[in-house]
Amino acid sequence: MDASTSQGVLAPTVKLLIDGKLVESKTTQWHDVINPATQQVLARVPETTPDELNAAVASAKKAFKTWRKTPIMTRARVFLKYQQLIREHMKELAAILTAEQGKTLPDAEGDVFRGLEIVEHAANVGNLQLGEMGENIAHGVDTYTLLQPLGVCAGITPFNFPAMIPLWMFPMAIATGNTFVLKPSQQDPMVTMRLCELALEAGIPPGVLNVVHGTADTVNGICDHPDIKAISFVGSTKVGTHVYHRASLAGKRVQCMMGAKNHAVVMPDANKEQALNALIGASFGAAGQRCMAISVMVLVGEAQKWIPDVVARAKALKVNVGTADGTDLGPLITCAARDRVEGLIERGIKEGAKLELDGRKPAITGYEKGNFVGPTVFSNVKPGMSIYDQEIFGPVLCIVQADSLEQAVEFINANPNGNGTAIFTRSGASARFFKENIDVGQVGINLPVPVPVSLFSFTGSRGSKLGDLGPYGKQVVLFYTQTKTVIERWFEEDEYHEMNTTISLK
Ligand code: NAD
Repeated sequence: MDASTSQGVLAPTVKLLIDGKLVESKTTQWHDVINPATQQVLARVPETTPDELNAAVASAKKAFKTWRKTPIMTRARVFLKYQQLIREHMKELAAILTAEQGKTLPDAEGDVFRGLEIVEHAANVGNLQLGEMGENIAHGVDTYTLLQPLGVCAGITPFNFPAMIPLWMFPMAIATGNTFVLKPSQQDPMVTMRLCELALEAGIPPGVLNVVHGTADTVNGICDHPDIKAISFVGSTKVGTHVYHRASLAGKRVQCMMGAKNHAVVMPDANKEQALNALIGASFGAAGQRCMAISVMVLVGEAQKWIPDVVARAKALKVNVGTADGTDLGPLITCAARDRVEGLIERGIKEGAKLELDGRKPAITGYEKGNFVGPTVFSNVKPGMSIYDQEIFGPVLCIVQADSLEQAVEFINANPNGNGTAIFTRSGASARFFKENIDVGQVGINLPVPVPVSLFSFTGSRGSKLGDLGPYGKQVVLFYTQTKTVIERWFEEDEYHEMNTTISLK
């Protein structure tokens, strides 16, 4: 069905997925999904009604009764098929993603690919969901654990990785025997929906995966729903903190992966070429809209002389629509995001930082309405300035100076966020000191965006994470299961007595 957009034109509607069927919402509240390079409205996405949310959860609750007893290898096999379907549809998925999110086509394929790795991991769930056993814990007593699924679980995802992050969530939850209600970002739900359609095609039964849409009302409805047992959230610190407290109060298990301010330390002994090239990609790739983007460079000692090299490399990057060949960074997700980033750049200047490179209002022929901001570099940045204190989530790199590695570590540990960090050095001793003393979840050594692959768990320190267990890796199996410990004893005499009684009764 088409629905009239806020611009008064017709656009297709994004459907809900309830009980295995794509259904039209009966809501009166719709949000536009907008191409950030052109402002074309691609679709309209509903704010799910309370009745629709209840129907999605009821369907998941009903499906849980049989899905939890479906043999573990049967569950895993669905994900073998699913990974194949994702591979076959890679180009189509990347094209949808670029249109609604703005990132370049290679970045969009990377987004899908990192999610695909989690699907492959889910196909291996048989090895991951094994319990433990101890024989003769007491005389004739054995003990073992079962990792049993929780029931209906939910996922709430951000706009910046609309393929990878939903795939962090529902494949592992479902493979471990749970059923799921997913709430994608309202800003770019179309690639997520295509992935969910492929999941159904792979054999996920009706009710096992459901999708609702919307923003605060729908998210609050998920937090409060009595039949939802666990919530995985990825997004900003402000919303994640709210979700964590609200859902925890409602008795749910919650994990929230949240905002960031990622620092990279560049030591004077680093390989300059390799370090700066890697860091430029990490700072400005995906227009800085990555939770693992390097947004602060800490130049130590003599490395402080490298500011002109950083600026020259940043200046050479190509800003353009994500579908154009050779584009390094595309547009920001919304006009509001662009205005906010431009406003922060203005505040950076007013608050005394030195603007080394100004990326505001780049001229992009044919895409004059796009939300583009080019690479921007500030030096002389200090805590207390808005560009340092806030997560900018745009292509703005702040450079700070430190006299020593110890000072750099102290500086980074004083920041409230602890998502990702990196050090560039040729010294093993410096790298070791850094990894031992830094209080950040993901640490890169001569690598700028240290996102763990599917075998490990994503994590975070301090303000970047709430909840103990991370998404994917081994930890997520514990997140989506309840450990049951069985302690058992069998009496030989009883069995003998039982057998004799049975025989004499015949
Ligand atoms: P966001 O917090 O605005 O949105 C996340 C989700 O919450 C969306 O589904 C959205 O619909 C919903 N939401 C928005 N406002 C809400 C409200 N008032 N009440 C309840 N729910 C609400 O985040 P975003 O802008 O989509 O994503 C960018 C943020 O996500 C950045 O802060 C980034 O660092 C963070 N992020 C973190 C990780 C990580 O693993 N740590 C990964 C990706 C993104």
